[in-house]
Amino acid sequence: MNANFLQTPIDYLKGVGPNRADLLKKELGIHTFQDLLNLFPNRYLDRTQYYKITQLQQTNAEVQIIGKITHIKTIEQKRGKRLVATFIDETGTIELVWFRGQKWIRENLKLNVPYVIFGKTNYFNNSFSMPHPEMELLDAHEKSIRSAMQPVYPSTEKLGNSGITNRVINGLMQQLFLESKNAFAETLSKPLLEQLKLDSKKEALFNIHFPKSQAHLARAQYRLKFEELFYIQLQLIRKNLIHKSKIKGYPFDKIGPNFNTFFSEHLPFELTEAQKRVIKEIRNDLGSNAQMNRLLQGDVGSGKTIVALMSMLIAIDNGFQACLMAPTEILSVQHYTGLVELCKKLNTSIELLTGSTKTSKRREIHKKLENGELDILIGTHALLEDKVKFKNLGLAIVDEQHRFGVEQRSKLWHKNEYPPHVLVMTATPIPRTLAMSVYGDLDISVIDELPPGRKDIKTVHRFDANRLKVFRFIKDEISKGRQVYIVYPLIQESETMDYKDLMDGYESIVREFPQPNYQVSILHGQMKPADKEYEMNRFIKGETQIMVATTVIEVGVNVPNASVMIVESAERFGLSQLHQLRGRVGRGAEQSYCILMTSHKLSADAKTRLETMVRTSDGFEIAEVDLKLRGPGDMMGTQQSGVLNLRIADIIKDSEILKIARSYAMQVLKADPNLSSEENIPIKNTYAQLVKYRNIWNYIS
Ligand code: ADP
Ligand code: MG
Repeated sequence: MNANFLQTPIDYLKGVGPNRADLLKKELGIHTFQDLLNLFPNRYLDRTQYYKITQLQQTNAEVQIIGKITHIKTIEQKRGKRLVATFIDETGTIELVWFRGQKWIRENLKLNVPYVIFGKTNYFNNSFSMPHPEMELLDAHEKSIRSAMQPVYPSTEKLGNSGITNRVINGLMQQLFLESKNAFAETLSKPLLEQLKLDSKKEALFNIHFPKSQAHLARAQYRLKFEELFYIQLQLIRKNLIHKSKIKGYPFDKIGPNFNTFFSEHLPFELTEAQKRVIKEIRNDLGSNAQMNRLLQGDVGSGKTIVALMSMLIAIDNGFQACLMAPTEILSVQHYTGLVELCKKLNTSIELLTGSTKTSKRREIHKKLENGELDILIGTHALLEDKVKFKNLGLAIVDEQHRFGVEQRSKLWHKNEYPPHVLVMTATPIPRTLAMSVYGDLDISVIDELPPGRKDIKTVHRFDANRLKVFRFIKDEISKGRQVYIVYPLIQESETMDYKDLMDGYESIVREFPQPNYQVSILHGQMKPADKEYEMNRFIKGETQIMVATTVIEVGVNVPNASVMIVESAERFGLSQLHQLRGRVGRGAEQSYCILMTSHKLSADAKTRLETMVRTSDGFEIAEVDLKLRGPGDMMGTQQSGVLNLRIADIIKDSEILKIARSYAMQVLKADPNLSSEENIPIKNTYAQLVKYRNIWNYIS
């Protein structure tokens, strides 16, 4: 069919006047025939089933019954009249009840003729009744195409009130199919249809709107979900390929003295297989002359820092500078000290730039950066200031990417004539399927292995009532030389209350753990940077045994001697936050513990979160649960992607189809990057249409 037909404004469909057109546009975003065709039902009323009256259950949602009306009467009530009909089948009796439209119904209902009725039942005084049933004469029912699975379309209150009921939408859909003669063009290629045994587009569209059976419906849904996900993946992968072919990067083809010396002489430990694999992936990217745009996912403690360093050494060996940007001052400082230590036997110059860097030092850094004396710059958002100009930035690494917006990242890009390679590191594992959709245009590396010898962190859930036992446990651990974190929630809306909780908590800890035997640090976001650093350093050096803090310590802090993490009001934390917090311990050789403290009042979701934390320490598994609990909309980094505006597929439930769709999209583009072959004509056309009208894929930037 002519593609233009589907672009016909909805006003031109028979049965749609200006009023209805207006409402359809405003309420459902339906502007064209195509939009209506793509209005897929939310659910279906299964009208393949017929109930006998004796089979009715109080739990039934909607039921369909065949029978006759034997009597009709009007009953007067204080609050108005109602019309009641006695409806029987060969097994029993129920009452049909109307409060509205009584006159019309009374005049039109036929007695003692077989009807099919459909609706929700109520159970009261040992008998069933059905208010405002849908009714159809059995005769007509047997002939109608609505008699199998009845679609229920998305609606709004306004539509319902304006008379655009589900039945009306259904009628419009029938009209659309009538006018189009169901001659819808195929949108997938023959080989795809054959290999995956998919319904044709025509069949799928017909069966999504007028399914004859559950099986027909399932096939139609599969086909349409596949198609939706396939085109998203096609677009993302294509973007990535175009990016690679268009955006040149500096080819780092040398592996020089810095990398080699470090690798052969100064590695403080043997790299894990996963680290080796990831470094190889990065090396390959850097060596090609396309700009690298890579996401490095690795659980807390999986050893991303060394990977970052080795990548930076490659840049330096090729005569370029590198930078590493972290979301907090504490974390930047820690990266800086760590990297200086690792590089102490190399001839690299490294500096730290944060909000609290003194002006004189700042000037010196600016100068050394511009004349190329400086190899590596580490810091916070301060790196994004306009005054910071690199001589030749070749690699930009961003740690904990979810703290940075896209805009900020691209600001780094524009520091130089050519964009530097970009490596984004995140410790918030994103379920693979979600990553495929949100970051489908990035390359992804995963460190899926922890360094050897790391003991599992024993995690328990304790109620506040057991606090004394927990204190005793803390004392035991401290007497063995360990250190302890105690973390309080800090949620924006209730900030003052939360600070009060934190300070009260701090005071009671100080009372329980008095000087001089114990030293307690405190750390929160309202402290001055210098004070924060001072307190953090006391803890890092082991001068204090307990660190009472808000979630400012969540990200990246590394104190291997700290072996106990206590989370207060743990029910108020999200799963990924709890996982991040737990990752602060278990970094040394000692057995570590995470204790999740809560009150007795727990929501079902909170219970699931706590149980999950106790059960597993696998970040990816935790991320999957998190995704299920919160839905993709709230996951880190997905907010702006719009990947959730899916029409029929569900990112969580349809992850298997997503994987298949992605692999086929890749296969198609590999074999035919420009979609110019004969067999890919339908794909090329559909793709062009989608880009042109952006009706479903409106999120693509
Ligand atoms: P993250 O991925 O959370 O940034 P880090 O890079 O901070 O992890 O590494 C966590 C700890 O593990 C550090 O103390 C680091 O020195 C150590 N580490 C990293 N890789 C290895 C390895 N292959 N073998 C032993 N220890 C390692
Ligand atoms: Mg880290």
